[in-house]
Amino acid sequence: MQSTSARLSLHCGSDHLWSTFSTSHQVHTELPGHHKPINREEFRIAIICALPLEYDAVCLVFDEFWDEDGDPYGTAPGDANTYTTGRIGDQNVVLALLQRMGKTSAASAVASMKLSYTGLRQALLVGICGGVPQTQNGFDIMLGDVIISRTIVQYDFGKRYPDRFIRKQTTTEAQSNEFRGFTVMAETMRGRNKLRQATSRLLSQLQENASKSGCGTKYVYPGLARDKLFEPNYRHKHHESPSCVCKEYHDMTSPVCDEVLTASCSELGCSSKFLVPRARSIHSQSQEDPNTSNTVHMPTIHTGSIASGDTVMKSGVDRDIIAQKEGTIAFEMEAAGIWDEIPCLVIKGVSDYADSHKHSEWQDFAAATAAATASALLMAYSEKQRARLGQFSYYQFIDSRPYYPGS
Ligand SMILES: [Zn+2]
Ligand SMILES: [Zn+2]
Repeated sequence: MQSTSARLSLHCGSDHLWSTFSTSHQVHTELPGHHKPINREEFRIAIICALPLEYDAVCLVFDEFWDEDGDPYGTAPGDANTYTTGRIGDQNVVLALLQRMGKTSAASAVASMKLSYTGLRQALLVGICGGVPQTQNGFDIMLGDVIISRTIVQYDFGKRYPDRFIRKQTTTEAQSNEFRGFTVMAETMRGRNKLRQATSRLLSQLQENASKSGCGTKYVYPGLARDKLFEPNYRHKHHESPSCVCKEYHDMTSPVCDEVLTASCSELGCSSKFLVPRARSIHSQSQEDPNTSNTVHMPTIHTGSIASGDTVMKSGVDRDIIAQKEGTIAFEMEAAGIWDEIPCLVIKGVSDYADSHKHSEWQDFAAATAAATASALLMAYSEKQRARLGQFSYYQFIDSRPYYPGS
């Protein structure tokens, strides 16, 4: 958890971030969220994380915590979850960390959450996912990119016949979701650029505050050279070890030794000859911050269908078969459980390619890009609420954001 000073600096940082806009439009603070709620019923937005590392990244985008001196809200009888409460921008948010991965655990946790927080209208599922390397439109998806859900496909729910698996039709279109408009905006070139810029600035803030609170370079972009995509049928196994039998196995279904399950590509000798060349350059993922002249990372944001299931996908071949058949661009494990319980937007950073070479090196950065995107969407949501109150329009908000040179 952060120190009090880090939390304070987060608060100051966000004020600075939005000061251009706030000054020019004389923003008032009459929104429902800009005060500490009196009780649990006042919370409208939940953020749900499945992993502690996702939770840590989300905590770094909170501007203020309501539970610094202990939980003031408690829980309803029968709710075993623990929560963190606070605000991100003007929005009061209750943050839940799931006790286990998987959709059943997620569904039961959210059902309990609704017992305690009876006024919830929306949930953001924020964290990391496995990315499909290329969309059906031919766009590369790379590590650290962000995926926002348009639909969820529960890809492992269906009937297994001797010769085939037929998936039950469980594709879930976005329900009445107050964030749906932002997803649509993020599908336009202009809306996506605006969201990327806001995300980039919030990511820089997150990184700076993490550094101040002793996390060092934990959330720094690992670099394009460390973004390695292997050909889907090139397996993660011993390639050089003279003593291991799995060195000799070459087809996709042969067993590999247990050591492979935890070893890194370099330890096993996975060869760079089998890397897939990617088109994206470092220049398309960075921009100069005019305030500091520092180069900051600008995550690419994709919207699309997310494959959700109880299996950790670690096969490039199966990944591509499902992605091709279902039109999905990412794999994760909780959305299908949450989607049925509450209107939900999934925001996930790509931490691996859902293949056997999958490792944890990118997880913190990917969690940070997702947290920054969630924060940017909450900021935009606040402006939309202000527009409803007649203070100004969301489009004025969009137009008032300064562009960085060259964007
Ligand atoms: Zn082996
Ligand atoms: Zn490998």
